Amino acid sequence: MAFDRRPLCVSDVALHPLCEAFIESAMAMGLPRNDDFNGKVQEGVGYHQTTTRDGKRCSTAVGYLRPAMGRPNLQVLTHALTEKIVVENGRATGVAIRQHGQARTIKAKREVIVCAGAIGSPQILMLSGIGPAEHLRQFDIKVVHDLRGVGQSLQDHYSAPIKLKARGMATLNDVMLSNLQKVKAGIEYYLFKRGALTTPRHPRRCSHAPGPSWPRPTSSARSRRSAPTARRTGCTRGRASP
Ligand SMILES: Cc1cc2nc3c(=O)[nH]c(=O)nc-3n(C[C@H](O)[C@H](O)[C@H](O)COP(=O)(O)OP(=O)(O)OC[C@H]3O[C@@H](n4cnc5c(N)ncnc54)[C@H](O)[C@@H]3O)c2cc1C
Repeated sequence: MAFDRRPLCVSDVALHPLCEAFIESAMAMGLPRNDDFNGKVQEGVGYHQTTTRDGKRCSTAVGYLRPAMGRPNLQVLTHALTEKIVVENGRATGVAIRQHGQARTIKAKREVIVCAGAIGSPQILMLSGIGPAEHLRQFDIKVVHDLRGVGQSLQDHYSAPIKLKARGMATLNDVMLSNLQKVKAGIEYYLFKRGALTTPRHPRRCSHAPGPSWPRPTSSARSRRSAPTARRTGCTRGRASP
């Protein structure tokens, strides 16, 4: 089900004949239909849900941070680059940052949470001396904690696009190649927060495990470029994090 009452809003997209044809053909090959990839099972074929609210991306900043901006115990620093975690006696006690060219150290009362993403987080850890010792020494970084695995195993999901021509129904390309359709899409979005401008790149997904002994799907096919409209974006605006 779409999570329409949570701060990080997940919405369903609207049904579309081209999407249905893709789904039906995958089901004819024996794949189960899955209308909730955020549920218990990730295998199957169905529509992607989108992390959106009212047709707009609902990022963690939108869903959690902005509603909490008024809290007295929260201060958000922008244009600030974390250069390293300060470690004293084996404990993270703060972060060294650079903001507008000025270096600063911010002390942590309790803990430091590293959340700089798949590339930024291991980089900060390694710059702080936390990572594979041999590798850190190659860059003259003082080893604070020899921790194998930091900066390893980055997995990318490879994408191999296949382009097909659709006859008899409007695709997103038809909208984007027509000025009239683009204006229409703009008006539809402005008035109703739905339409082509709310469409994810891959509205449908088909995930497949090669056999019953596999714990989770190992391959995933997505199809794109049709023009379904947002079906449900019922999140309450500005809800604070519970
Ligand atoms: C092209 C693309 C498409 C994607 N599509 C989807 C999708 O459709 N659905 C889905 O669920 N997920 C999708 N993802 C994955 C999703 O974006 C990530 O899983 C999610 O953003 C991870 O969140 P995060 O908070 O861990 O890191 P991020 O969102 O990467 O946030 C890390 C933040 O830390 C900041 N930062 C990094 N280094 C530093 C530093 N040294 N100092 C200060 N700040 C720093 C960065 O600027 C960034 O703002 C997609 C990712 C990509 C790249």
